[in-house]
Amino acid sequence: MSICSENEVLLLRAIYSRLKIKLGTEMTNCNIGVAQGSMISPALFDIFTESLILSLKDNGWSLEDILAFADDHLIICDSVKDLERAISLVKHWCSNSNISLNSQKSGVLEIIPPRGKHSLSLNSTVADIPVVSSYKYLGVEFDHKLTGDLHMTTLISKIRFISYRLGPLLPKISTDYKINLWKTLIQPLINFSLPLMAHNTWTRINKFERSLKCCFKRFLGLCLSTDNKIVNRLIHFNLHELALSQEEASLSKWNQRLFHLTVTKKLKSEPISPCPLLPKSFIKFVNIQKSKCPNCGTLNSAHHLQNVHGLTVPSSLELIDELDKDFPRTKSFSRNTILSGKEKRINQYLSIILNHLRQTF
Ligand SMILES: [Zn+2]
Repeated sequence: MSICSENEVLLLRAIYSRLKIKLGTEMTNCNIGVAQGSMISPALFDIFTESLILSLKDNGWSLEDILAFADDHLIICDSVKDLERAISLVKHWCSNSNISLNSQKSGVLEIIPPRGKHSLSLNSTVADIPVVSSYKYLGVEFDHKLTGDLHMTTLISKIRFISYRLGPLLPKISTDYKINLWKTLIQPLINFSLPLMAHNTWTRINKFERSLKCCFKRFLGLCLSTDNKIVNRLIHFNLHELALSQEEASLSKWNQRLFHLTVTKKLKSEPISPCPLLPKSFIKFVNIQKSKCPNCGTLNSAHHLQNVHGLTVPSSLELIDELDKDFPRTKSFSRNTILSGKEKRINQYLSIILNHLRQTF
């Protein structure tokens, strides 16, 4: 039985017969492999390697222990004997399919329990495949205890790099646009890492969450001591909750695929309300409440300003609610009108605090 219909095969043949490789001024036709970067290439490769998956299945592997996406294959084995058998099956399939297996790009990663010991020594080989201490599969770096430490270190550097590159732009845009940029450019990188967090230790999850929150605060220009309550109001940041919801959705998708049902389950949307429209000055307002009162040496919090100096300004959280109530997001007001209304209100509060700071000097 063919996976593609006759017409689909003809269409693919027509597409591939027109593909050419250009090297300088020279052109050549290609008659092997799939086009790099083409949207259908992973699916074509999956079709091509299906016989390998079926061969592993026929030799006793559960489908749940074979992960395959295009040319990235991961086979879970319970013993060294099984591992050797899997490598032999893959090599056999490769030679029959005219595919060369690059041993140096492949790796054996031994997953050991928290207090367990290695049975394979690092830098040795199993049937020519090197035993490695970590392996990157579909963009996620797995280590031998599945801690995610290595992946998270790489992720944090990547986020810092993106923030650095966006550095000249960030001070010029409104706070809600910055949050949208974070959601578009950085949140997907975090989502990719969430499976590692679903069953990790609390200490590790909290550590990663703290590091990510620091990155988020730097991205927004908030001082690092900004309360988590404010960060949580701006963005949903509970890694454990996000990981569990992603796991639930993935499991449901997996089961639907396993039983050949239409995949319907989508990832849950953020459980909190969307980020409110906030002007640039909001960041200044939050930060100034973290500066020290020159008179008393304590923080210029709304509570301190009211109780000690008799000045009425809201806390940062109260300010978000107040702005949302007084400048609601409706169709009759444009984004710019709402933002400038909010900016004016924030500037009134800022001038109260700045006057107090000037008077005390
Ligand atoms: Zn004071």
